[in-house]
Amino acid sequence: HQTMNDVNDTTSVKVAVRIRPLVQSEISKGCKEVLDVIEENEQILIRSIDRSFTFNHVLPSHTPQNELYDRCVKPVIANLYKGYNVTILAYGQTGSGKTHSMGTTYKGEGDMGVIPRAISDIFDFVRENFCYDFAIKVSFIELYQEVLYDLLSPKPRDQTTLEIREDTVRGIHIPGLTEVPVQAASDVLNALTRGSTGRVTGSTAMNAQSSRSHAIFCVNISMNKKDDSLENKEVKLYLVDLAGSERQKKTGAIGNTFKEGININKGLFVLGNVISCLGDDKAQHGFIPYRDSNLTRLLKDSLGGNSVTLMIACVSPADYNVDETLSTLRYADRAR
Ligand code: ADP
Ligand code: MG
Repeated sequence: HQTMNDVNDTTSVKVAVRIRPLVQSEISKGCKEVLDVIEENEQILIRSIDRSFTFNHVLPSHTPQNELYDRCVKPVIANLYKGYNVTILAYGQTGSGKTHSMGTTYKGEGDMGVIPRAISDIFDFVRENFCYDFAIKVSFIELYQEVLYDLLSPKPRDQTTLEIREDTVRGIHIPGLTEVPVQAASDVLNALTRGSTGRVTGSTAMNAQSSRSHAIFCVNISMNKKDDSLENKEVKLYLVDLAGSERQKKTGAIGNTFKEGININKGLFVLGNVISCLGDDKAQHGFIPYRDSNLTRLLKDSLGGNSVTLMIACVSPADYNVDETLSTLRYADRAR
């Protein structure tokens, strides 16, 4: 039986599908639920078209935030302490529950998502560990139309653009990126709130933009040994609230809007190809197209290789969204 926290099993990419409940606007429109879950088989069925898929985890719409975390995320986070990089991705159409599940816009209240729970887990580990000294830094990047923005920079947004560099000594790195040293979970949550607030209220166009951009929260952990029998470790946790996976309508899309559609699809498209290669034993040893988008270039050291990836595929239960739900489940299925 496969366990999620064992990186030695055949694949280091896991997929959890999360169905959200019908939201008020869907109930008002008279939408019906069309998804069934066969829990003991981790299987999801789209009743209206009789298609089913199996994943590592399938979470029905009544699943609370703590269960998403404890069942699917916590065992993956535990790999950090063993020296593996970890990436958690939330994928799905706009409105499917990515931000809710990730907790990207955490404001210190309500039932928190993955990011604040992961942070609190990491600081519990730090507090209980006497073998290492820890240095933890966080950064927060938005990737929009292939351009990176530094969400923790104090400068005006248009002056915060960044470039990805790669060399043999440092691997992937981003010169000039704001990295905030943190001593406690509350410092991390302050940085998260500051960055996500800037992202949403930076300009009037930002709301539409935020569904088309990737929000990438990075926790960099240096573990410095206190004892010569140990080894120093440096690991990265990426928590990624991906752009909405819906295709842009070509009709009516003009000028810049059309370009947006193309670029966003490119990041998700290349990510799909990359994680599909990672899940495929034969392709693993061949060429993996990381360089084809900035999203995959940025995540390169944390996808495949010495790392563990969890994709949380978020779907709406409504008949109205069946096409997008099927497309999300197909995308997630390629990652398995
Ligand atoms: P996305 O980030 O994918 O665009 P959101 O996370 O913003 O979607 O979710 C859209 C709406 O659905 C929000 O109002 C959110 O509160 C609600 N929602 C999403 N997932 C759940 C869930 N599991 N339980 C209850 N409400 C949810
Ligand atoms: Mg969102």
